Amino acid sequence: MSFTELGLNDHLLQALSEKGYQEPTPIQAAAIPAVLEGRDVMAAAQTGTGKTAGFVLPMLQLLAQGPKVRANSVRALVLTPTRELAAQVEDNAEYYGRHTTLKTEVVFGGVKINPQMQRLRGGVDLLVATPGRLLDLHSQNAVRFDQLEILVLDEADRMLDMGFIRDIRKILNLLPAKRQNLLFSATFSAEIKDLAKGLVHNPVEVSVSPENATAHTVEQWLIPVDKSAKTRALIEVIKRNSWYQVLVFSRTKHGANRLVAQLDKADIKAAAIHGNKSQGARTRALQEFKDGDIQVLVATDIAARGIDIKELPHVINFDLPNIAEDYVHRIGRTGRAGSVGEAVSLVSLDELDLLIEIERLTQSRIERREMEGFTPNNPLPEIALKAPRKPKKPKTPKPEGEQKSRGNSERKPQRDRKPSDRKPDERKSSDRKPSDRGDNHKPRSNSNSTAKNSSGASNAPDNRTNSQRRRRRRPSGGGEVNGNR
Ligand code: AMP
Repeated sequence: MSFTELGLNDHLLQALSEKGYQEPTPIQAAAIPAVLEGRDVMAAAQTGTGKTAGFVLPMLQLLAQGPKVRANSVRALVLTPTRELAAQVEDNAEYYGRHTTLKTEVVFGGVKINPQMQRLRGGVDLLVATPGRLLDLHSQNAVRFDQLEILVLDEADRMLDMGFIRDIRKILNLLPAKRQNLLFSATFSAEIKDLAKGLVHNPVEVSVSPENATAHTVEQWLIPVDKSAKTRALIEVIKRNSWYQVLVFSRTKHGANRLVAQLDKADIKAAAIHGNKSQGARTRALQEFKDGDIQVLVATDIAARGIDIKELPHVINFDLPNIAEDYVHRIGRTGRAGSVGEAVSLVSLDELDLLIEIERLTQSRIERREMEGFTPNNPLPEIALKAPRKPKKPKTPKPEGEQKSRGNSERKPQRDRKPSDRKPDERKSSDRKPSDRGDNHKPRSNSNSTAKNSSGASNAPDNRTNSQRRRRRRPSGGGEVNGNR
């Protein structure tokens, strides 16, 4: 299968050949023709599958055929959960559209709004945005949606996890009813299906990888180690293997800062990206890492969401994530689009339960390799692989009208609870700081639902009650921040 066979025009084909893509990935082969036909699409696709080109390429082609964009208007909108992912998608869109006259832009929080308002003035064909900043821009009349033709929700599951449902629904209410809708999500919980019900119409359903399956191009192993020896073990594993370009995951932003200081002391040039860093610092660190100027990038889960570095060879989990699915997302940063990667986890006894959940979710044992000089005083017991959790029957989704007035979780996204007791609507946009949101999630109870719908798209129900969901998502005191305003 070639890109030409998918019906893409010469301008896009030229950009693809310059980018060095030989042939479409499975998600591209399935999604591109469907989008070109004007169909709604609901795709179960993990990051790393090439999903971005799967929606951006056909959108550019459709946009190139349509009318000229008017002042302050937007013809296609891509919503993403994080700033990094937004920037990544726009980078791709700009590259793929380099031989067209289409204008693409990105807007996200954490940076000044005025330059964004100016860039929107002449109208934008394809806008990539995080939800909060988009609403701020709309409330200041900087963006209009009456010309909107296509909407994409990218990483929809993560947007819901991060409490964006209210913002998303607000945005949906601002858009013209007649439009093409594309929904991309790694998992399909009952919540996502609720959202999809009022969004996509008679969609083409695409699924390219089984839910929660880890990319098979990633070699995974773990080092059993005492908690107190982890930092030394990290330094040792990097030095012993002469690894360059290593992405290290830390559960907390404070932990990330500490690691950077310790790595620097060991002559390993490192930088951290997390929500307490300014957008400028995050972008700079990512660029330096991509350019090979720093050896190790230490990231928290949310901040790492948009990281896409071609053929990133090594991911190290300094600690295991609280949510088993995040393990899959973390190691998805390596072994992308066919290249081979290595994902290593430093696991101490106190993380045994998290390890069990990860192995249960992925239905595979992670190979244990002891490291010389680091044999733990508190060894990890061998635990047999547990059977996957049985998915419970999903709740019947309520009609759209009822959804809006129903969920407390939708009415009070936790990111809006701070800094005051005021309800979100009562807050001024100037109140909204990047630090309003947290990613210190606790494990989710339905972490390994594996049901599939008829098309193969994941159909996994979310078995938690709304109150459980709210309780679990509330960030703890030292909560990590992602700041999309
Ligand atoms: P994504 O899942 O969209 O984040 O893409 C993951 C990575 O795959 C990115 O580095 C893309 O540049 C790369 N990629 C996307 N499509 C292709 C393709 N057809 N051939 C090779 N690499 C690709």
